[in-house]
Order: sequence, then structure tokens, then C-alpha cells
Amino acid sequence: MPYNIPSDINRAVVLVVRMDYESISSSPAMLASVPTAVGYSRLVVIELMLAQSIEDMGYRAVVCGNDVALSVPLVIDAGLGQYGRHGLLITPKYGSYVRIGTVLTDMPLGPDGPDMEFCESVIRFCEVCDKCDRHCPFQAIPYEREQTWEGVCRSNDPGVKKWYVDVEACHGYWLDNGTDCSNCNCIRSCPYNKPDAPAMRMLRHVILWSTKYVPALDRPVVALDDLFGSGWQIPPPLA
Ligand code: SF4
Ligand code: SF4
Repeated sequence: MPYNIPSDINRAVVLVVRMDYESISSSPAMLASVPTAVGYSRLVVIELMLAQSIEDMGYRAVVCGNDVALSVPLVIDAGLGQYGRHGLLITPKYGSYVRIGTVLTDMPLGPDGPDMEFCESVIRFCEVCDKCDRHCPFQAIPYEREQTWEGVCRSNDPGVKKWYVDVEACHGYWLDNGTDCSNCNCIRSCPYNKPDAPAMRMLRHVILWSTKYVPALDRPVVALDDLFGSGWQIPPPLA
């Protein structure tokens, strides 16, 4: 059924909440599903509070999950991140360890714009980094260097130049694995994701800086990230 959003509700406020690093590092174990549920639960509360505030100021607000609009393009337009090879959002601060919520409104907010420097650096880096497709258990992530305009399965929405993930193969893995969305290895393995430990925080800053300003170092950065053991599974604690 189509959603009938009035045409004058033409602004989107996007919200990004961080998920727990340690739990997702256990992917594809069941524990990795927990931060997804926690993230969306937190978003519901935050979105409802924001919508109430907007309505208190005399405007209309529509709370959305991932159902009304495509979340990642909205986040890119809001200047909070970029789309990666793994088909997910990458934010400068929290990598892909995030969940997204949106509140549509007719409040006359001034629009933000994409962070082009970050967006371009992510595309360049994803062209040489292969960690997500290397760690994907179902080969659902494309390994070709270049982005394409064509989808790879009927569930893709073609016509945008990007890396298309075989989301049907990916979903098949979730079913096999017995979790709804374990975030799986693609989020776990992305070099933009780092825990809060000081050494890892510094590594994240190095990656952000070098991918922006010294793209010639992109390959060594991937190797360095591997050397630090980033992206490998941390088995969940035994019950
Ligand atoms: S969620 Fe898992 S199966 Fe799906 S693309 Fe990511 S790594 Fe591959
Ligand atoms: S793992 Fe590498 S190629 Fe995949 S999204 Fe992250 S940076 Fe891009």
C-alpha cells in the first residue's frame, strides 16, 4: 500500500544512533543481533520525542523507520555519511555501527548538504578495500573495483551508480544463520569501524585523515587494519 505523505511535508530530519561495538564484533553469532534491536528501540523513543517537539511548535511530523523513504540517501544528503561497498551507511564517527531513523516534517528547516570530501574519500577507499566482500560468508557483496548502474538481483533498485549487494543471497544467509539481522561480517570488518580504546580511536583518525588526503596510502591502510586484527570475529562470551 502506498504511503500518502502530503507534498508540503518536504523536510527530513535524520537520526543516527550508535550500536554496541563488542556485540557486533561477535558476528555472525546471535549476540550480534542485539544491538540492532536496541538501536531501533532507542530510535523510536528519540523520534517520538522529536516529533512531539515539532508538533508542539505547530508543525506536522511523520515518524519513519526504514519503511517510508530510503534512509541512506537521506543521511548522505544530511551530511552525516556515505554509502559503502557493503551497501550500508558509513559515518565518519561511528563507521557502519549505526541505525537510522527519520522524521518527516513541514517545518521550514534549512537543508544541510553532503560532506563531499568524506563521500569522495569513501568511494576511493572502497575501490581498493575488499574487507567486507572478503568476510561475507555468502559472496553477496560485489568484489569488482568499479561501481555499476545495474542491480544484481530483482530486489535491487537499479539506476544509481553504486555497489549493488545481492540482498537476496544476504537474506538467505540470515535465514540459514537463524537471526533476523545479525549485521553480519560486513559491518564487523569495515575499517571505518573502531572501538573506543585509545589506540583504536587513533587508528580511526589515521584512516579518516589518510583516506581523505593521501589516497595513495589506501592499500597500506587496509593492510595496517588487517595487521591490527580489525574486523576479525571476537567470539561471544559463553553463557
Ligand atoms: S549481512 Fe552478512 S551475508 Fe549479508 S552482505 Fe553482510 S556479510 Fe554478507
Ligand atoms: S569494508 Fe572496505 S570496501 Fe567494504 S564498505 Fe568498508 S571500507 Fe568499503
